[in-house]
Amino acid sequence: MPLQSIAERYADLRSRVPAHVCIVAVSKFHPAASVREALEAGASDFGENYVQEARAKFADPVLADAPIRKHFIGHIQTNKAKAIAQTFDLVQSVDRLEAGEALAKAAKQLGKRLSVLLQINVSPAERFGCPPAQAERLAEALRALDSLNLEGVMAIGPIARERGEIARSFTLAADMFGRIGGTTLSIGMTGDWPQAVEAGSTMIRAGTAIFGPRPARPASKNAVM
Ligand SMILES: *Cc1c(COP(=O)(O)O)cnc(C)c1O
Repeated sequence: MPLQSIAERYADLRSRVPAHVCIVAVSKFHPAASVREALEAGASDFGENYVQEARAKFADPVLADAPIRKHFIGHIQTNKAKAIAQTFDLVQSVDRLEAGEALAKAAKQLGKRLSVLLQINVSPAERFGCPPAQAERLAEALRALDSLNLEGVMAIGPIARERGEIARSFTLAADMFGRIGGTTLSIGMTGDWPQAVEAGSTMIRAGTAIFGPRPARPASKNAVM
């Protein structure tokens, strides 16, 4: 396969993903320079998994002034809720009431309304995410929190490459999205986005397809947590 630039990869992906589907460029472990390259190529939404890494990266002078939408897609630690609420525009990974309450409290202190998605666990291999059976109750509780806007559902597909299993997981996510409501169904990554789009995805989260293989997680724990 010929080596492609980030701009070429982004343009190629954008041309294949239907126009109504938002592409979140997942930049974890990639440097600010790579994010700037994707930005120049037209990307406007960026996803990060670790608060400290994201804050350092988004402080880049070009990125700090750019009209980008920042998505938090990592596991929410409640002691990081304030930093998450400060840094991000859409928190996709709310999977329990405790996390929602901590974000709501932080958003209130900051005088902002924070957009969130409810992360549902649709795959046994996945550690996080609200069990589907509890998701409607959690959605109701999150909607009762003033400073949060619940905008829909996020899910991570199974690692298995078996098409049937992926399809079942995404159908379950789409089904839960139908029950919970909202405007955003965030499903699909580099390896499975076509199936996610088939299932009704409105937002895919693509890292490798845009930035290429991820570098190893930075050695300094402080740099990424
Ligand atoms: C890393 C990550 C992605 C991007 O994965 P790729 O396979 O590189 O596209 C998407 N969603 C979440 C939650 C992630 O942690």
